[in-house]
Amino acid sequence: MKLRKVSTAVVAVASLSLALSACGGEKGGKGKDGDKIVIGIKYDQPGMGLKTQDGKFTGFDVDVARYVAKELGYTEDKIEFKQAPSAERENLISNGDVKFVAGTYTINDKRKAKVDFAGPYFMAHQDLLVRADDNTITKVEDLNSKKLCSVTGSTSAQNVKEKLAPKANLQTLGGYSECLNGLENKAVDALTTDGTILAGYAAQKENQGKFKLVGLKLSDEPYGIGLKKGDKDLQSKINAALEKMQKDGSWQKAVEANLGPANYKADPAPAITEKG
Ligand code: GLU
Repeated sequence: MKLRKVSTAVVAVASLSLALSACGGEKGGKGKDGDKIVIGIKYDQPGMGLKTQDGKFTGFDVDVARYVAKELGYTEDKIEFKQAPSAERENLISNGDVKFVAGTYTINDKRKAKVDFAGPYFMAHQDLLVRADDNTITKVEDLNSKKLCSVTGSTSAQNVKEKLAPKANLQTLGGYSECLNGLENKAVDALTTDGTILAGYAAQKENQGKFKLVGLKLSDEPYGIGLKKGDKDLQSKINAALEKMQKDGSWQKAVEANLGPANYKADPAPAITEKG
């Protein structure tokens, strides 16, 4: 019941912010002043995209977003971050509320019908997070009799429903942090999404000793930068920025700085294939 309330609130906040930005003149991802760039990121994924309590933005995706923005000609003070929940990403891009999204955003054909991608810039894999004392979930088949939580509009939820564990009791919420609450208070038995996100949660100070990753690679999740469909110029500029980030060592540095503390073993940088 509690979970449902949270998800309704998240959806309400998300749609309210969409409505507000629609009348705030932020079209084209240019921000209120026109000379800014608005970038969609996650706000509740430590290590990947996080808005901290003092209003700072941290994480690997945030570092990628900043690097790309700089290459596009935007200094740090010209960047405006906007929350991009999983289910809202395509809308935020097509409505022009953001210039691009860098938020654990898997490239796939379903999404490519609505937006274009640059990249990929990272290869993640779906995994499971369970309570530290749980020894009943060690493989994907164990999920079929369990309560599982994931996020609306994510590939993680879709993979569970379509192939991984169609018989699992799957609940989808607005964000992974809501699922984490459910896992802690035993409303659900497991949280599933990319290992990057799960490792970030498990490593948080306040979560020490509470959760563990099962350590599975249930899917390939190539992260791309989502941008407006047909904007080939932006796509090639972002690809050039991503290539430069890999070549000059900034990519590796960002991986180590953001995912190192969570002990996440990242795959090597993927080849950039989203062209033309
Ligand atoms: N990478 C997956 C996706 O894009 C899961 C993480 C997320 O929801 O952002 O759906």
